[in-house]
Amino acid sequence: MTTYKLLIDGQMVDGDAVMDVINPATEEVLAQCPRASKAQLDKAVAAAKAAFPAWSRTSPAERKKALNAIADIVEANAAELGRLLTQEQGKPLKDAIGEAYGLAAFCRYFTSMDLPRKVLEDSEGRKVETLRKPLGVIGAIVPWNFPLILIGLKLPAALLAGNTVVLKPAPTTPLTTLRLAELIKDVLPPGVLNVITDANDLGAAMTAHPDVRKISFTGSSATGKKVMAGAAETLKRITLELGGNDAGIVLDDVNPKTAAQGIFDGAFQNSGQVCIAMKRLYVHESIYDEMCDELAALASASVVGDGLEQGTQIGPLQNRMQFDKVKEIIEDARKHGTVMAGGAGPEKGFFIRPTIVRDITDGTRLVDEEQFGPVLPVIKYSDPEDALVRANASPYGLGGSVWSSDVDRAIGFAERMDAGTVWVNKHIDLAPHIPFGGAKQSGIGVEMGEEGLAEFTQLQVINIAR
Ligand code: NAD
Repeated sequence: MTTYKLLIDGQMVDGDAVMDVINPATEEVLAQCPRASKAQLDKAVAAAKAAFPAWSRTSPAERKKALNAIADIVEANAAELGRLLTQEQGKPLKDAIGEAYGLAAFCRYFTSMDLPRKVLEDSEGRKVETLRKPLGVIGAIVPWNFPLILIGLKLPAALLAGNTVVLKPAPTTPLTTLRLAELIKDVLPPGVLNVITDANDLGAAMTAHPDVRKISFTGSSATGKKVMAGAAETLKRITLELGGNDAGIVLDDVNPKTAAQGIFDGAFQNSGQVCIAMKRLYVHESIYDEMCDELAALASASVVGDGLEQGTQIGPLQNRMQFDKVKEIIEDARKHGTVMAGGAGPEKGFFIRPTIVRDITDGTRLVDEEQFGPVLPVIKYSDPEDALVRANASPYGLGGSVWSSDVDRAIGFAERMDAGTVWVNKHIDLAPHIPFGGAKQSGIGVEMGEEGLAEFTQLQVINIAR
């Protein structure tokens, strides 16, 4: 069995304890993984703090060179990283390899960015400039649905701005991150990047740590609230990328035959375990039956299985807790709607076949909660204004989409959706130059793009007398 180690101060070290990592497709132990102690977290933060002064003084060109080197290594090892990601996370191999290439692309994208000084005023009375300075030690906390690409939303921007990082993956998907750390460790001076793993017990200590200046957190809204509370004592900067319950609104001028595939992909990618997956679909009554039938046909035809098997489109749920939760939500939905397609998958493993539930409405668990699994409620409406009100009634506001053959009409609804990103005639489309963040309880702040990079900095004003 491969051994995995933590990265602390440039060294690969054992954890003070170990824990099992389960392959969700087989329910068997995939590997043992180190589990850091609180003392090891403190060492990682101390190493990052010690590395900060020198790293923050390196030139942007030097940091960009490091990001390009990381991208080269990730690309050269994408097949290995992808295979490991599939085994610990469950997603189909081609998606996992794609995620590794995505991380490389994000690293490269940030090499095209700069944080220039800006002159706000240069007059007889004064000269005023702003600069963007690094913050210090960044605590980066990642969930289990996209272990690699979510590093891409944090690490390149943090490093480019001149910060040092302590990175913590989710307890059920630590291996790819640890292997990545081993592969890239020599690109960066010791302490600039540290990777620790836990059993869900170090996040709070990271968040409260006096030497961590910012927490860049991706995870559930429930944990995000704990992060915000934990960061209050030291008034840390926080970026929170949290849960969602994205609505799709399908207007009456849509052809269900042509739109169904895009809607299906927007809901079922990564077995529905995407923060910005479509999690409720509002369909006009005139096309409701046809849309339900098209979606159910796609659900029944999809290939569910171990992500390592060729042809698999839908892998298992990532962990038993999520598997049990989604099964429970489906059982509850049976009482309130009609289950058209779906059911259990292969015998072993955390599999659930893509499930479509029709004749269901708001006020039920499946519609109101974040199901985070391969089950989509399809809700009938007669008045699009009413559909918009219901879409906006959620405490979440991450993403949303409007589907129509009349793009201007769709934009008219999109602009009134209370969400950080709204797509027209598609759902789920992110890129490193497009800022991403949630409204309401889906988050605070943004990642990616110029705005995302700025969040890894402290704005400073220099105001000179003339
Ligand atoms: P989670 O909140 O349970 O865990 C996320 C991370 O937080 C893990 O690394 C976990 O160990 C850590 N953690 C646990 N307790 C902590 C604490 N008290 N303080 C700090 N960190 C702590 O989320 P999950 O179940 O792993 O992930 C699924 C959730 O993530 C969904 O709600 C999904 O929508 C959300 N998500 C959001 C985005 C986004 O960009 N908005 C992206 C992906 C996933």
